[in-house]
Amino acid sequence: MPEVIRIKNLSKTYNNKVTALKNISLSIFQGECYGLLGPNGAGKTTLMKIIYGKAKYYTSFDELSVLGYNPLKDDLKIKYLTGIIPQEDNLDEELSVFQNLYVYSKYFGLPKKESEKRIEELLEFMELTEKRNVKIRQLSGGMKRRLTIARALINKPKLLILDEPTTGLDPQVRHNIWDKIRKLKNEGVTILLTTHYMEE
Ligand code: ADP
Repeated sequence: MPEVIRIKNLSKTYNNKVTALKNISLSIFQGECYGLLGPNGAGKTTLMKIIYGKAKYYTSFDELSVLGYNPLKDDLKIKYLTGIIPQEDNLDEELSVFQNLYVYSKYFGLPKKESEKRIEELLEFMELTEKRNVKIRQLSGGMKRRLTIARALINKPKLLILDEPTTGLDPQVRHNIWDKIRKLKNEGVTILLTTHYMEE
């Protein structure tokens, strides 16, 4: 199995003061679901941001490779092949469920027909078909999270990065989201996620 993420002795400080990461090493292989477990402030989000090229300063390492690219230089190439689900749901409140997905598909240059087909597939996969024309503010927290995951899947990513995908959701919704993550893993998507729930 190819190595999707390879990190050796990675450290990061914020403003040369706060040490967020100290000598982290890990290898994640294609098709694996890799979890980072730790309390708030442990450095999980920082590590994810480095992996998708969003945190670039005061970073030292011996090796840092994501899908064969260096996140410090090739962040756009990584973004093109990756789906990112941040902690906060940053959906466009003014748009409908469908429109949120459609606008996002344009970032990846999907032609109209292909994009519409992909969106319908994703709405079905995430059980949101009935909500396709509803505005974001009318969705529950669990629906918003599912939509954020659907949005991250628009470009059929090889790597899916989820920052606390189940935080703040009730047990039934958490169960449902885990079910979807398991299906994606079975399709061969490599998954990196954080959680602070021990049982997860
Ligand atoms: P986690 O995701 O595990 O809660 P974070 O990666 O958010 O941890 O934080 C790790 C450490 O880095 C914490 O001490 C946090 O206060 C600090 N930190 C995170 N982001 C910043 C920032 N933008 N500026 C300064 N310090 C930060």
